[in-house]
Amino acid sequence: MKKLFIFDFDDTLANFSMYNTWVLKQPFKMVPHIGSTIPGAVEVLDHLQSRRDKMAMLSMNVVLDHELKWRKLNRVGMGKWFNDETAHFVRRKTPKKILDICANMKKERCYMVGNSFDHDVIPALDAGINAIYIPRPWFTAWVPRRTPRTDRFRKLSSISQIIDIYDDL
Ligand SMILES: [Mg+2]
Repeated sequence: MKKLFIFDFDDTLANFSMYNTWVLKQPFKMVPHIGSTIPGAVEVLDHLQSRRDKMAMLSMNVVLDHELKWRKLNRVGMGKWFNDETAHFVRRKTPKKILDICANMKKERCYMVGNSFDHDVIPALDAGINAIYIPRPWFTAWVPRRTPRTDRFRKLSSISQIIDIYDDL
């Protein structure tokens, strides 16, 4: 059965996002972009695509206009896996928005993948879908978190582990 993976973007699929957001907003183009995809992210996206799973993106981003958002995503090649229909930009990630994205899918087949406990994990669990928590960067990741008592919650140390646990999802 097909699954749906909803990915957070900043610090889940790619890094140095705040800097790049600032660069994109500059009127002059003297400042280089930095940052790249998170190690393992490309392999995971390719893996899921090869399994014919559905993929979506849910990103908190109201700072950039539509064109700049896509320029930011395309800097790291996201156009290969996501498009206007599957990439969602919101002011806040809510259970309702997550359920909209999950329309026509059984909740137990849907997975939110993100680095933020508050912005990715909590709304996903509140929506009744699964949450895959990959805390990073390290300076926020070490902060002890209450672990939700549900088997809909998984915590991984790197995004590439999604491939390792894929058959158990
Ligand atoms: Mg994030």
